[in-house]
Amino acid sequence: MAEVLVYVDHVDGAVRKPTLELLTLARRLGEPVAVHLGPGAEQAAKVLGEHGAVKVLAADAPEFADYLVVPKVDALQAAAQAVDPAAILVPTSGEGKEIAARLALRLGSGIITDAVDVEAGADGPVVTQSVFAAAFTTKSRVTKGVPVITVKPNSAPVEPAPAAGAVEELAVTFGELARGTKVVSRAARESSGRPELTEAAIVVSGGRGVNGAENFALIESLADSLGAAVGASRAAVDAGWYPHSNQVGQTGKSVSPQLYIANGISGAIQHRAGMQTSKTIVAVNKDPEAPIFDLVDYGVVGDLFQVVPQLTEEINSR
Ligand code: FAD
Repeated sequence: MAEVLVYVDHVDGAVRKPTLELLTLARRLGEPVAVHLGPGAEQAAKVLGEHGAVKVLAADAPEFADYLVVPKVDALQAAAQAVDPAAILVPTSGEGKEIAARLALRLGSGIITDAVDVEAGADGPVVTQSVFAAAFTTKSRVTKGVPVITVKPNSAPVEPAPAAGAVEELAVTFGELARGTKVVSRAARESSGRPELTEAAIVVSGGRGVNGAENFALIESLADSLGAAVGASRAAVDAGWYPHSNQVGQTGKSVSPQLYIANGISGAIQHRAGMQTSKTIVAVNKDPEAPIFDLVDYGVVGDLFQVVPQLTEEINSR
């Protein structure tokens, strides 16, 4: 069976959820081979093996941390030469897309970015993208070289599928560009203690109806009662009530949690583009004609300043 390379997104060996989603998709195309760069390969291999990686190609060198993406591209190129894969899957992120684009150029391959689904086809992987604010879906196929595909977070379920996950060392020779862009400093963002927005199982969002930065405390309390991440509409972000890193939508992040609760959000197409694939959608809005109600599984017509605290209290009491 053909092997499929999966680029591992991790923090010191703690594998992030989008990589496990890629393993689900990779198994549809062949045998997943994970590529782990940096420290923590043994720790990562355990979870990668539990989710279907037959092998983990691992390389560790200071270059992966000290320089921007080129050393990682060198390593993926070495992995592609070692394995001759049927496809290479990379999580969609700023870094993931840059790695994928450079890699495709090196390999003389076609690339498809921001996939929301990948299936096996007679002539190679068939890739689904969601375009024009999710008004259309397109299916495409790479016709030249090894398909390089970046996949958006939350596009596939995480499925346990035990496999060997044996670590093999990947020999990497860095090219002359590898040390061309050095990292000068790194500062971790202050953690809210909440889950990462794109990986959270539950997202509680607030919009213009929240009516002020101080009132986002209500949204945060509801989120904390559920162990959820906090999202915001662009109107709330543009008003300066919540950071842009929490914006959901066409020009923000795409989320697809098990549960999405929209509070004081009208449901503009650009907001829907980032959340309409959520499994269960709940909206609280005082306007019964708000377009968000066309999308929801459960809708509450009411004032969020009454409904949200009641909901929080009820959940906390259980
Ligand atoms: P509104 O549309 O003003 O809706 C507020 C809602 O709150 C109303 O439905 C109202 O009934 C309700 N409400 C008010 N008070 C209460 C209350 N007390 N209790 C309950 N309900 C109440 N938007 C995004 O969200 N994400 C994006 O990424 C994004 N990208 C964009 C990209 C482009 C190119 C463009 C042109 C627009 C984009 N937008 C985006 C903006 C989008 O078009 C909408 O303007 C925005 O989503 C509206 O945000 P909102 O729903 O919070 O505000």
